[in-house]
Amino acid sequence: MDAQVVFTFDVDVDSVWVGEDPAAAAKPVTLSHGLYEVRRGLRLVLDTLAETEVRATFFVPGVVASEHPGVVEAILEGGHEVGHHGHTHRAPAQLSADEEREEFVRSITALQAFGVDPGGYRAPSWDLSDRTLEMVSEFGFSYSANFMDDVFPYRHANGVVELPGHWNLDDAAHMWFAGDDTWLRKISTNSEVNEIFDAELDGITAIGGTCVYTFHPQFVGRPGRLPVLRHAIERSRVRVGDAILTAGAVAAKWNAARVQ
Ligand SMILES: [Zn+2]
Repeated sequence: MDAQVVFTFDVDVDSVWVGEDPAAAAKPVTLSHGLYEVRRGLRLVLDTLAETEVRATFFVPGVVASEHPGVVEAILEGGHEVGHHGHTHRAPAQLSADEEREEFVRSITALQAFGVDPGGYRAPSWDLSDRTLEMVSEFGFSYSANFMDDVFPYRHANGVVELPGHWNLDDAAHMWFAGDDTWLRKISTNSEVNEIFDAELDGITAIGGTCVYTFHPQFVGRPGRLPVLRHAIERSRVRVGDAILTAGAVAAKWNAARVQ
């Protein structure tokens, strides 16, 4: 298959902060990092996608969908795909088998309230357990967007299509700053992020692969960061033309072609 680009967004809101550290539930300013998505960031991202005529895939935790119904509604109004991103944003690797199953069920129920039947699964924090892939198949998902072991989609042994990504192509790796142990990190400039993203995009598409970006509206949705998203879209148009697709559309192509 020819080179393709997929724009994905994980709309974690405050769930990622509590999922990473339950004590954050009592820290309103910590939570406010994520709540920026609801107040401002998601809308700015959706406006950018509309202006550039890109359809994207948004992975939304069940609690976010339930507590902030405007989030899923706005994403669907924009014509985008909604995927499964756990329920409480606790990493599957940290859960018991029963807890992990409950996360799957509760989030599916939460998304179905909006008429969404999610076809794809991205684990919170990309931290799968050794059971997750079987649950992805059992619950009927057609694709996973988690692994980092290729730059082409491929099929797992249980039939699930994988759309591999990488931390290099994740805005959180370059823009996350929480004011705790991240004090030791340097905040990347837009030029630095563009340089890393461009190298990945150019390299992957040069060999006909699929470049899967992962963004978060709480990071790239800041006005000063939106140019990174716009730049990635414009450069992707140059590299692959109209082959900027949702994750679900890429998975459907692979399933239709029965590509191994
Ligand atoms: Zn997430």
